Amino acid sequence: MQPSDQCLTYAKEEHYCPHCNTRLACCHCPPFHVGDGLGWGSEVMFVCLNDDCQLFVNGWKHCEEQYGHCSSYRYMLLPGETTGNAMMVGSKEAFTGSVIDPNATKFTNDRYEKEKAAVAMLDTCVAEHNLEPVLTLLLDESANLEGRQRACDLLVKLNDLACIDPIRNHEFRHTEFEQQANLAIIAILKANYCKECPRCAEIIKSKAKACKHCGAEFE
Ligand SMILES: [Zn+2]
Ligand SMILES: [Zn+2]
Repeated sequence: MQPSDQCLTYAKEEHYCPHCNTRLACCHCPPFHVGDGLGWGSEVMFVCLNDDCQLFVNGWKHCEEQYGHCSSYRYMLLPGETTGNAMMVGSKEAFTGSVIDPNATKFTNDRYEKEKAAVAMLDTCVAEHNLEPVLTLLLDESANLEGRQRACDLLVKLNDLACIDPIRNHEFRHTEFEQQANLAIIAILKANYCKECPRCAEIIKSKAKACKHCGAEFE
């Protein structure tokens, strides 16, 4: 899921816990509503994640006595509201994984914008001999797989030897893209009557008897 600009705006808001005065963390809402099943009506909520907060510290005993199970309360506030609620949590770690870091979100949004721009350029990149959007998508491990596949398919059509170094230097997490990219490289080298020197990996003419870069000799 892409954090929206709205999330980013919320993450900058400052709210404080009435129990401990700690700044509330901006978190993604859990996918379900514990109460009525109607949803939270919001993408984010502000939560007091202070483990020394009195509400949280005293909540364990209260829940044990009241409900006989091991849980406690965190103070939480929904955007646009002035008073929050005590929300039941089953563990200390609840919500700690869903905190929105405004800077991380900014980075994610920038990456996403770049991906979107690259996808938009795929249709014309072959006509314009523009390798850039193809490499942007192929080498972006977070990009949508469909876009990366389209980029991969365009590699051979672009027939640009400049794609080889960046691909060789990239660590693919999706090995199927790596395999396809390797096949594309072989096709591109062949179409350009080139090969990679087996010793230094520089691109040389396929008929070369010696590498002009490292001096390696071939049969
Ligand atoms: Zn608190
Ligand atoms: Zn060489």
